[in-house]
Order: sequence, then structure tokens, then C-alpha cells
Amino acid sequence: MKINSISRLKKISNQKFLVRVDFNVPMEKGKIKDDYKISAGLETIKYLSSQGAKLIIITHLGEPNGKALKSLSTAPLAARLAKMASLKVKFVPAVVGPKVVEAVNKMKSGEVLFLENVRFNPGETKNDKDFAKQLAVLADAYVNDAFAVSHRAQTSVDAIKNYLPAYAGILLEQELKALHKIVKPKKPLVVMMGGAKIETKAALISKLYPAASHILLGGGLANNFLKFKKLEIGKSLFDAGSVPVVKKLLSGKARDKKIILPLDVVVKTKNGKILSKKVKAVAKTDCIFDIGPETVSLYAEYIKKANTVIWNGPMGKFEEAAFKNGTISLAMVIAARSRGRAYGVTGGGETISALKMTGMMEYVDWVSTAGGAMLSYLGGAKMPGLKKIVV
Ligand code: ADP
Ligand code: MG
Repeated sequence: MKINSISRLKKISNQKFLVRVDFNVPMEKGKIKDDYKISAGLETIKYLSSQGAKLIIITHLGEPNGKALKSLSTAPLAARLAKMASLKVKFVPAVVGPKVVEAVNKMKSGEVLFLENVRFNPGETKNDKDFAKQLAVLADAYVNDAFAVSHRAQTSVDAIKNYLPAYAGILLEQELKALHKIVKPKKPLVVMMGGAKIETKAALISKLYPAASHILLGGGLANNFLKFKKLEIGKSLFDAGSVPVVKKLLSGKARDKKIILPLDVVVKTKNGKILSKKVKAVAKTDCIFDIGPETVSLYAEYIKKANTVIWNGPMGKFEEAAFKNGTISLAMVIAARSRGRAYGVTGGGETISALKMTGMMEYVDWVSTAGGAMLSYLGGAKMPGLKKIVV
């Protein structure tokens, strides 16, 4: 694997770099809840600025669907970046157009501009040629430091590279090197998956299926499998769109050995009571919000025998104290098994927040800023954001 990285670039001073970061942080009432993604992106920005580059930074935040939504403005991100990097960062309330061009023309060596949410432009999610050209005129070179969106064919990670020379940022380079180590994992490989983005994740399971010894399922994702097995899941999170994938996975030969499902779950009943129940005992009016204690010890046994562990997606609605036990206990088991006995890799927005709660994040070998993209990469997918960068 050869990576065209900025770390090997000689001509940086006075060059204009359009840097695509992933600062899609969790927000609550206009405030940043967790700035992990910003801190992960600091190295590239500080490096380029210290070498005298002119930086134009773009990111998405949430899903504004091509509309300018005040609540999803990137202005607070620019302010936080300025603080964390100890740099002056000028925010421009536009993505492309005359205001941006004017601000870029005034830039001096080492300065940083931060543009408005790239997804405010309807062209972004369409991988649009014209939008790509409008972005490209702003800079001399393009840097992708947004691994978490590199599995998407979107303008600011894909089409843009048709119009500017493209390089990997330092974070992207580190992500690729860390994950490359487990493209051929030391076995047994145990994959633990959960979370709420069922549709994307269900499809990724089939990609990881051949290499994995065991796939432990929890969270909203597991509900689809339980339901397919004709178990009652009541009012729990479910995604009808992923039924075909689940069917395929559960019809495979090694199904009962590889795909491991919860034995018990924690539910909220119609009266608001919180109970742990065997999966067979879930009622029509229940809502599953966590895996139960028997499942925790079963999954822990698998993790303790693994030589490689990959984890993405919480086992339950861990943001609520009553439903955090499954996720937090297994996060601790994974952290304890990492650094030595097994190579432990975790990733995903909420997964990182949960891992942080354990206070054991630094024990894990690699904490990726990406969830879906990490699994895609490990599943061998060709990622649009890496084209022309990984050669
Ligand atoms: P990540 O960002 O780590 O890749 P996702 O975005 O797929 O993970 O999902 C994270 C969310 O899934 C969390 O906010 C959590 O509350 C939610 N979740 C997990 N299990 C359940 C469940 N059983 N019911 C509802 N939500 C759940
Ligand atoms: Mg998420």
C-alpha cells in the first residue's frame, strides 16, 4: 500500500490546501458534546499551518439535505478548532461563491479559513461535477483527512479529486496504516457490532463474515436478527430494509457458529418498568434497549479467546444509565484484552463516546474516528475517497 501523503510533500509554503476533515461531532442545543473528532484532526492542520500553507477547511455536520440550517452551521466548530489548535481561524458563512473567493484571496501564509457546512450545498451528496469545480478553484491542492466519509461517493471526498492533486492528511494516513495491519487479521477474529444504523451495518456484516470467527451482535442491529428468528421484539428499533441481508446471513452454513445473538435483553415495559428477560420472554409491548447479563458473559468469553477484536456500535441505548451496562462492560473487556493479547480496534461516533465512559480508551490499540468506513475498509471495499490517494 502506497499512500500519497502530505507528510512527504515538499512544496507546502504559500500553497492553498483545501482540507476535507470530518468534524461531524455530536451536538446538543448548539453546543459541542464531544470534540474527539476535532482533536483527531489537529495534527494535519497544525502541520500544514506551521509549514506556511494557506488552509481552507471543509466538513459536513449532520444531514441538512442540501439546505442551509442554522442549527447545523459549522461556525461553532471553527471556534472550537481555533481554541484547540491555538490558531486564528476565520469562519466564512458560505461554502463556495464570491464571499469565499474574496476571503481566500486575502489569506496569508499559515492562515486558516473555515467554510460553512459542505452539505448545505445540494451538490455535495450527489458527487456533483460543477460543485467540485467550484470548490477546486479555491485551492492548489486537496487533502482528505476525513476517513469516516471516505466510503461515500460525495463531492468533497470523491469528485473533487478530478480537479485538484490529492493527498492524504496525517490522520487518514494513520487510520489506513492501523487498519491495514488487520486486513489479514490474526485469528480468531471476533467482531462485535451494534448500534442504530442497521441498514448500512447489516450489509457490512456479510463483508466481514468470511474472515470472522465470530460476530457478536447487539443494539438495534441484533433486533433484526431476533425478529427473523421469529422472536418477539415488541416495539424495538427495527429496519425492514435489511431483511434480505439478514436472511442471507442466517441461511449460511456456519450460521449458528458465526453469528452470535443475545440470549437475554433489558427491556422497558409498557408501564415504564426496566426488566432483564430471556429473548423468548419479550412481550409485544416491550422495547429492547440493552443486552442482558447472560449475553454479556457469553460475549466476554468470545472476546477473551480472540487474537483480533473489532468493535463498532453500542450494545444498547448507553446514553441512558439504565441501558449502559451491556456496552460499558464489554467495552472494558475489549480494552483489557487489547494491547498485547489481542489487537483491538474500535470505531464509530457513539462507540467512541461509550469507550470514553470506561476511562480505558488508551488501552485499545486503535480507536478509529470512523464506524461504517472502518468496517467497509476491513471488508475489502474500494472506497471512493481513497481513489488517487492510496495507489
Ligand atoms: P456508531 O456511531 O458508534 O457507529 P450508530 O450510530 O450505529 O453507532 O448507533 C449508535 C446509537 O445506537 C446510540 O446512540 C444508541 O443509543 C443507539 N442504540 C443502540 N442500541 C439501541 C437499541 N436497542 N434501541 C435503540 N437505540 C439503540
Ligand atoms: Mg453514530
